[in-house]
Amino acid sequence: MIRPKTEEEIELLRINGDLVSRTLAEVGKWITPGVSTAKLNEVAETFIRDHGAIPSFKGFDGFPAALCMSVNDVVVHGFPSDRPLEEGDIVSVDCGTLYKGYNGDSAYTFPVGEVDAETRKLLDVTKASLYKGIEAAVAGNRTGDIGYAVQSYAESFGFSVVRELEGHGVGKEMHEEPGVPNYGRRGHGARLLDGMTICIEPMICAGGRGVYLARNGWAVHTADHKNAAHYELTVVVRKGRAEQLSTFDYIEKDGSIKF
Ligand code: MG
Ligand code: MG
Repeated sequence: MIRPKTEEEIELLRINGDLVSRTLAEVGKWITPGVSTAKLNEVAETFIRDHGAIPSFKGFDGFPAALCMSVNDVVVHGFPSDRPLEEGDIVSVDCGTLYKGYNGDSAYTFPVGEVDAETRKLLDVTKASLYKGIEAAVAGNRTGDIGYAVQSYAESFGFSVVRELEGHGVGKEMHEEPGVPNYGRRGHGARLLDGMTICIEPMICAGGRGVYLARNGWAVHTADHKNAAHYELTVVVRKGRAEQLSTFDYIEKDGSIKF
C-alpha cells in the first residue's frame, strides 16, 4: 500500500518543485551553440546551493554531476562534458534537488539554436504527451491510465516510447513506489490516491524504441541513434485534476527566451 503524502510533506515537495523549475530556467538562459554541458552543470549546481538545497543527483549511485545532460540520441542519464553544444542539437536537462529532506525532480529538452522541423515536432509531442499523462493522474485512476495517455498520444505521431525507464513516486526518496510507465493499458497498474506525489516523465524517440546502455553504465542511447526527448514534472494526485508541483512556466513565460 502506497501512503499518500500529508499536506506538510506536499508543501516541502512544492518548494523543491519550484526550485528545480527555476534551476531549469536558469540553465535554459545559458543554452546556446558553443556552451558546454559542463558549464550548464556548474550554473545549476551553484544556483541550487545558493538556495540552500543539495543537488540530489550528485553522488546518487555514483552519478558524477548535478544534472543529467543528454544530447541528441542520448535519452537520459548523460554526463555533462566539455564538448560544446552545436546549432541544431537538442539537450535534455534533468535536475534533482534535496531540501529539508524532500526531493524535487524535473526535466526539459531544450533546442540549441534552430532545430529542424521533425526535431521541433518531437519536442512538442513529447511535452504534450506529458500533459496528457498529467490529465490522467487523478484519484481513482491507475498508473496504466497515465501510461496509456502518454503512449497513445506519442505513437499517434509516429514516435515511439522508451519502455526500459519510467516515472516514479517521489518524497523523502528520489524514487519511490509506484513506478509510472509511459506505456500501458487503461485500468491496469497501481491505484492512484488523493495526495500521492509522482513524477511523470515521458522519454520519446523519433525513431524506434530500442535503447542500449553506454559503456560508462549510465547514458541510455537510442539504438538507431535518432533523437530522443524527455520532459518531466512532479505532480500531486488529486480528485478531478492533478496539481503540478513543478512547472515549465519559468522557462517558457519569461519572455526573453522562447522554447
Ligand atoms: Mg528526473
Ligand atoms: Mg524522475
